[in-house]
Amino acid sequence: MNKDTKILVVEDEEQLSRMLRSILTQSGYTVSSAKTGLAALEHLVREEFGVILLDLGLPDVDGKEVITQARAISAAPILVISARESENEKIAALDLGANDYVAKPFDAGELLARIRVALRPPRAAPSQISSPRRGLEIDVASRRAIVDGQSVRLSRKETELVQLLADAKGAIVSHDKIIEAIWGRGSDADLMNVRVLAWQLRRKIEPDISAPRFLIAESGEGYRLNLE
Ligand code: CA
Repeated sequence: MNKDTKILVVEDEEQLSRMLRSILTQSGYTVSSAKTGLAALEHLVREEFGVILLDLGLPDVDGKEVITQARAISAAPILVISARESENEKIAALDLGANDYVAKPFDAGELLARIRVALRPPRAAPSQISSPRRGLEIDVASRRAIVDGQSVRLSRKETELVQLLADAKGAIVSHDKIIEAIWGRGSDADLMNVRVLAWQLRRKIEPDISAPRFLIAESGEGYRLNLE
């Protein structure tokens, strides 16, 4: 199961980065490494990760800035790893959207336990969203949609959006609610991010993107999911 989970390790100390990679790959995770904040953000733009392990002391930008930027791009849980033991640093990191904090030096067992907690889904959610009559079936856990018999893979954010709308049972979900649920309160995401995400999702689930039948935009208000 771990094999499908990609972890981004953002750590500039070569030795520690190698150690983290070895601990994580031995536990079956797939690891990408970044040595700078900029490289980390480039990774996040390109691919999705299950967890981000982030050192706060980076050579180019402050790790806290990386948290803010990462939150605008990715929904992956951020686990801060830092030698900075001050309570203020820790609170600031959590306020900015980090999920948890592990102080150096850390124990491998503890780190792996925190990663498992971070990976745990936040809430029990319906695992199937479907409109059998109209040929749409979405399996939330595996992030797969079947559209008229064709299987497509959804990104994490696309899945979050469709789930959020499905939870509303056909009611309109406002743009603000969508931003808060997917990018987090206080993120830089705006209406444009919502529109791009909705477009990406439509491209995958709508048989005819010019005449959406599932993901309905309510002008100026938000979106709703029509499974009727
Ligand atoms: Ca460092």
